[in-house]
Amino acid sequence: MKTIGVLTSGGDAPGMNAAIRAVTRTGIYNNIRIMGIKQGYNGLIDGNIYEMNLSSVADIIHRGGTMLRTARSDEFTTEAGREKAMTVLKVFRIDGLVVIGGDGSLKGARELSKLGFPTIGIPGTIDNDLGYTDFTIGFDTTINTVIDAISKIRDTSTSHGRANIIEVMGRHCGDIALNAGLAGGAESIIVPEEGFNVEEVCKRLIQGKNRGKLHSIILLAEGIGNAYELGDEIQKYTGIETRVTILGHLQRGGSPTAFDRIIASKMGAKAVQLLIEGKTSRALGIKGNKIFDIDIDEALSIKREFDTDTYQLTKILSI
Ligand code: ATP
Repeated sequence: MKTIGVLTSGGDAPGMNAAIRAVTRTGIYNNIRIMGIKQGYNGLIDGNIYEMNLSSVADIIHRGGTMLRTARSDEFTTEAGREKAMTVLKVFRIDGLVVIGGDGSLKGARELSKLGFPTIGIPGTIDNDLGYTDFTIGFDTTINTVIDAISKIRDTSTSHGRANIIEVMGRHCGDIALNAGLAGGAESIIVPEEGFNVEEVCKRLIQGKNRGKLHSIILLAEGIGNAYELGDEIQKYTGIETRVTILGHLQRGGSPTAFDRIIASKMGAKAVQLLIEGKTSRALGIKGNKIFDIDIDEALSIKREFDTDTYQLTKILSI
């Protein structure tokens, strides 16, 4: 293993930079040349590749986003696109690849492994929607961003006696809403895995109001309904003025938390170590505070299980 390439792909996530830094520094420490591939699989197909040195990754551990930039690549999902990528890897004399991204990106890594190219996947996505790992890089930063927003919105909701629906990201996974809702003390949490019933949400709001609660935070995961329509319905049924805040892309940015920096650093270093050991087609994860590796195919076949115990707990704690 003389040369390793590294790329970030799919949605950006805070902590990706810490992973790039760890790959680069661990590689150079082991006398391996590190090639940074820009804009995900698009950059791999186009040969948008340059050599990294120790200072290429200086001053990035605390920055959100990804210094290698990211992209979604339709071309890479085709056989012809992947063949081009394989040719570029050969031209640049790259012997192994580290892919940092979400489930789509790891599927791409699996395809390269199937073509015989040594590839390791690192889970980097704010959604935490990969079943084989407890956490993905970026998730912890995002839930901290969301609880900060909840606190700020709660101040103004309390002053006016309003209810507030806060829509958060997560695609089909309710983990951001669930965990930020628990940590932020939301009155109701609406996630795709559990569905919801408007009457029940309204009942909780009215019960809270009758007990003297001055605010109500409803955390809504994206992809389960229109936040504005829900707000109108709640206001109609309860008579409580209801506002909507869609947090959107601010959830993706910001300086990564210590947790995200730590797991990103450990996974980045381990990815290089695995390639040095001649391993391929492995995905990295964390379980019980231990970083582990698993066959990518197996990792991708594990369905994410929604944490129903935590969901029940949020219901108890928000009575
Ligand atoms: P996020 O979860 O943050 O959205 P992601 O990695 O899941 O990140 P995707 O857009 O699903 O984001 O995937 C990123 C890229 O991975 C795609 O644009 C495509 O190039 C590649 N990819 C996705 N699925 C496959 C697949 N089945 N085979 C080959 N490549 C794929």
